[in-house]
Amino acid sequence: MDALPPALQGEDLISTNPATGEVVGKVQVTTTDELDAMVGRAWHAYHNSGWKSLLPHRRALVLNAIADGIAAEKEALATLQMKDNGKPLAECRGMVESAIGTFRYYAGVCETIETNVTPSRGEYVSFTVLEPFGVVAAITPWNSPIMNDATKVAPALAAGNAVLLKPSEDSPLLGPELARIALKAGLPADMLQVVQGKGADIGAALVAHPGVRMVSFTGGTTTGRAIGRTCGDKLIPVALELGGKSPHVVFADANIEHAVAAVVAGIFGSAGQSCVAGSRVMIEESIYDEVLAQIVARAKTLKVLPPDAAGVEVGPLASFHHRDRVVAFVNRARQEGGRILCGGEVPTGGDYDRGAYYLPTIIDGLAYDSLTCQEEAFGPVLVAIPFKDEAELIEKGNGTAFGLACGIWTESFKKAWRIGRALEAGSVWINTYKQSVTTTPFGGFKNSGIGREKGIDGLRLYAQVKSMYFGL
Ligand code: NAD
Repeated sequence: MDALPPALQGEDLISTNPATGEVVGKVQVTTTDELDAMVGRAWHAYHNSGWKSLLPHRRALVLNAIADGIAAEKEALATLQMKDNGKPLAECRGMVESAIGTFRYYAGVCETIETNVTPSRGEYVSFTVLEPFGVVAAITPWNSPIMNDATKVAPALAAGNAVLLKPSEDSPLLGPELARIALKAGLPADMLQVVQGKGADIGAALVAHPGVRMVSFTGGTTTGRAIGRTCGDKLIPVALELGGKSPHVVFADANIEHAVAAVVAGIFGSAGQSCVAGSRVMIEESIYDEVLAQIVARAKTLKVLPPDAAGVEVGPLASFHHRDRVVAFVNRARQEGGRILCGGEVPTGGDYDRGAYYLPTIIDGLAYDSLTCQEEAFGPVLVAIPFKDEAELIEKGNGTAFGLACGIWTESFKKAWRIGRALEAGSVWINTYKQSVTTTPFGGFKNSGIGREKGIDGLRLYAQVKSMYFGL
């Protein structure tokens, strides 16, 4: 156990409701000794539980039973997530539905996934089989815990692995619920265990643990780089889903009404705490003032309310310390010379005084290479950038380190195709935004990540290819 830091002291991790400041629940932080024991149990379960050698349709039965178990508790889970991270209840319900769909999808995939066969060349026939890595780590952020957990756990189990899931210390309550439901659904004991605690402590220890053979991470780019370094040293595969600064492009020939609605929803949904938030709106110069005015007018009407209030459109941020980061981000934008067109402040009075709220904020007048236009706020902050032609759009659109997603609004099919191919992004939305289905791969270009989750690719992440030859 040389790679591990000194044993961490067992302590509680408290989850606080960012809408009220009240304590929602607590979990025990995993110590390094416990981590060691968990990795041992995971390997024992991997070798002895029979999970990895179950016939695919039997594994599928359990994954479908996990989906049923989540569905049976969906309202309670959505409410727990709302309290754990402050997202509006309707959004949390959507994330629970997504988790259910993910388990069902990978139940289907593990029955139908195809591998390669090369027919006989006379002396032999060759084919490939997919094998699990053994014990894998799944590390998730706080913004959509149940959805992000399912996106990793379902395919990792479908591929036959044992999983150590580490939720964020800022939203620790959903991971244990998923493990409880999975056990009840028939997943063998210790095939899914939950590691709790701070990323820099137990998260780093988990990645470094010699018994962990693959790491799947969703979170910030700086963390992803650190995890990637450790995995590089260990020579184990790593999948990274990281941050973004996604451009949302509006051409003069767009359906402006739809574009404006999508731009506002694309950044202010989830209070901007979405990796694919369209945080840079890029508007063709000839319509810049008019369209930006419409976006600002619409943003000002958004209902910033507690996450369980009727009609809520923007809830609080996920934690008070995250709000501090957003406040600092906007203050720096001011220093960089940005014009605050709306928001730019913490609302006060009533519910606002108890929760981690921040008003939807739109900023313009900044150079596209300013820090505000380059770095992720991960909050309700939109920067507006004009462009005069396609060449300038592509230069500015691709002019960040990120490449997660982009949106394009135009009535010209050919232009949409051209720009969609030219922008460096893992997901391109044309005349729509933030759509996501389990069947379609998701991931980033450049500093937004390595690997693709969802779809068949999402299962292949958790499997290694073995090539076999049969002599005839
Ligand atoms: P974060 O990187 O701080 O933490 C994410 C997870 O990693 C947490 O569980 C944390 O405890 C753990 N962690 C932190 N340091 C670690 C270390 N050294 N070793 C191992 N684990 C460590 O990110 P966050 O603040 O929780 O989430 C916000 C970020 O996540 C944003 O940048 C956002 O864009 C990104 N994100 C990306 C996607 C995507 O699919 N691309 C989805 C959601 C969020």
